[in-house]
Amino acid sequence: MAIEQEIISTITDLAKRLNLADWGIAPADEMVNEADRLALWISNGYHADMQWIAENTALRQNPKLLVPGTQSILVFTINYAQQPVQPPHLPRIARYAYGRDYHKVLRNKLKKIGSVLNQRFGISGRCFVDSAPVFERELAVKAGLGFIGKNCLLIHRNAGSWFLLGSIFIDIPLPPAQKLQPHSCGGCTRCIDACPTGALAAPYTLDARKCISYLTIEKRGDLEPPEAKMLGNHLFGCDICQEVCPWNRFAIPTKEPDFRPRPWIMNLDARQWQDVSDEDFNRHMAGSAIMRPKAEGIRRNAEAVLENEKRK
Ligand code: SF4
Ligand code: SF4
Repeated sequence: MAIEQEIISTITDLAKRLNLADWGIAPADEMVNEADRLALWISNGYHADMQWIAENTALRQNPKLLVPGTQSILVFTINYAQQPVQPPHLPRIARYAYGRDYHKVLRNKLKKIGSVLNQRFGISGRCFVDSAPVFERELAVKAGLGFIGKNCLLIHRNAGSWFLLGSIFIDIPLPPAQKLQPHSCGGCTRCIDACPTGALAAPYTLDARKCISYLTIEKRGDLEPPEAKMLGNHLFGCDICQEVCPWNRFAIPTKEPDFRPRPWIMNLDARQWQDVSDEDFNRHMAGSAIMRPKAEGIRRNAEAVLENEKRK
């Protein structure tokens, strides 16, 4: 077997054993069009106060600047599809946060792959899971893993959008994906119509300032009254624009044990979240993505949810 084929079948085998849904190879070329689109998006203020998105643009545009010596990029997806398990009256938590933090889960898997590639083939690689300026979704498209939908998420034609992404920048050339998945939203506008806050400002354009995911997870400090209202009954994240997407009828439930819901997270009501102590929060949330806004942010969100309940 040619060495290239041996490397590819080794990765395929490892990805399968590690419960990864799919993987592909993207070229390490400069991403000028993607950078132009990002600059336009930022110039409209759609990134809210996520200033880090506007920084390191040269590194984001050029993978070879981010990791000198990069010749190919391996992109991996991990499936987190599962049915909502919270009783419907409780404040909503995005499904990707039901179990262990995906950053940790996926990074560990990518590190294992990187280590085998290094030991067996002498390949050097750097793993990223939302941890550096990387055009993750766009690289996934170039790796043949899906298309970007009008809801701005990566969608696989056979498996929907309940995926998380990670990549390994490697120092050898491998043949990039030959067959890319075409844009396949057609005339559908379900995600735009269903978004409760109008955050999908146009097809393929997210205004983070109105997005519940941003407001509940990334926004720091107090919520302005209109922002608090936008939360509805969402405590952490929002899945609406995925729940309505017809491509998700093909979703297959995840087999990843680390994504199993933590009962404590699933069963608290808004009042309990509002009253949670730092100590309890940190103990029960250790290793969870819900740590990101910290106890303070979650209490703030719970207060907004309670206010919204009173308005009903
Ligand atoms: S995550 Fe929720 S608020 Fe954000 S765009 Fe999707 S439906 Fe709208
Ligand atoms: S809901 Fe419709 S328009 Fe939105 S991403 Fe899915 S297919 Fe595309």
